[in-house]
Amino acid sequence: MPVYNRIAEFHDEITEWRRTIHQHPGLLYDVEETAEFVVERLREMGVDEIVEQVGRTGVVGVIKGRQTNSGRVVGMRADMDALPIVEKNDSPHKSKYEGKMHACGHDGHTAMLLGAAKYLAETRNFDGSVVVIFQPAEEGGAGGKAMCDDGMMDRFGIQEVYGLHNSPGLPVGDFAICPGPIMAGTEEFTVTINGLGAHAAMPHLGNDPIIVATHMVQALQTIVSRNVDPIRSAVVTVTAIHAGKAYNVISQEAQFYGTIRTLDREVRAQVVERIRTTINGIAAAYGAEVSIDIEEGYPVTTNHEEQTKFAAGIAKQIVGDARVDDEKLPVMGGEDFSYMLLERPGAFIFMGNGDSHGLHHEEYDFNDEAIPVGASYWAKIAEAAMPAS
Ligand SMILES: [Zn+2]
Ligand SMILES: [Zn+2]
Repeated sequence: MPVYNRIAEFHDEITEWRRTIHQHPGLLYDVEETAEFVVERLREMGVDEIVEQVGRTGVVGVIKGRQTNSGRVVGMRADMDALPIVEKNDSPHKSKYEGKMHACGHDGHTAMLLGAAKYLAETRNFDGSVVVIFQPAEEGGAGGKAMCDDGMMDRFGIQEVYGLHNSPGLPVGDFAICPGPIMAGTEEFTVTINGLGAHAAMPHLGNDPIIVATHMVQALQTIVSRNVDPIRSAVVTVTAIHAGKAYNVISQEAQFYGTIRTLDREVRAQVVERIRTTINGIAAAYGAEVSIDIEEGYPVTTNHEEQTKFAAGIAKQIVGDARVDDEKLPVMGGEDFSYMLLERPGAFIFMGNGDSHGLHHEEYDFNDEAIPVGASYWAKIAEAAMPAS
């Protein structure tokens, strides 16, 4: 597979970086240790500009090409945060912090982008500037939005932006991408039912919120199966239900919550409307009081046509046409790179992590064999987007 030879030479070093980052995970915005590690490496490489604390704990590095006549500026983004999971691996690079773990491979993403930065700072074989973006809080904290809100795109003159995520189950050396929506928009909903508590043996004197809640959870199952056009996509998942504490008491209150995933605004609006109508209708039927709270999460990650074609072409140059799926079906997970794609054209791509445990699994580990592939992808994106004359 024609990865860059120079990057292949860095493989051991980048692997060391990846494992060091893996051993020192931080959650959401608390990624100071990783951010410091990134800054130290960028400084060693002699990148032209390093700015810390963009979006609280994010880091941005600027690498100027041998020429900058084109005025082109391309952004490439990695995420740095880990998850609140107790790692079950027994590797020598296991997390040193109990209850925190790089279970989504952001350690690998950060290390690969650092590897590409090292190559690009050494060779500078492009006409323009590369902006390497290391963001905090991808896992639910909207760190990508925080960096955008800090004015990152204008401040560094970024014109296009690219993102990458590893994909367990996809062989190492494979890529997958599609134009348009590639990951879902997310919403979180909380439903609180106020019934009337009573003695368990005298249910006629109360209004059991558990009965109301279970009917609601059942009814929500028909939104996707009976209301949404079967050709379009949506997910409504109830992930928690809480009520009661005793064998002999009917609870006063019940609460359940969960997530909504959709690929466009229209379906999103339909699902939200159906949830409200269904919940309010059932509450009225049972004479219970209910409150519904729906909070907007990450927007849909929407790839731009031209940049997607370009990114797929780069992946094909590295691993060959047969190993790049450029008509990937979208996945219903969320991704806060979506905020960057709302501000600038760009593309988000998946890269194989081989036969590893799934993302967010306590035995997941980023596959170091994928490092030269990912780092070469980044290097080629920069060189091809801004060819030196
Ligand atoms: Zn994740
Ligand atoms: Zn992730």
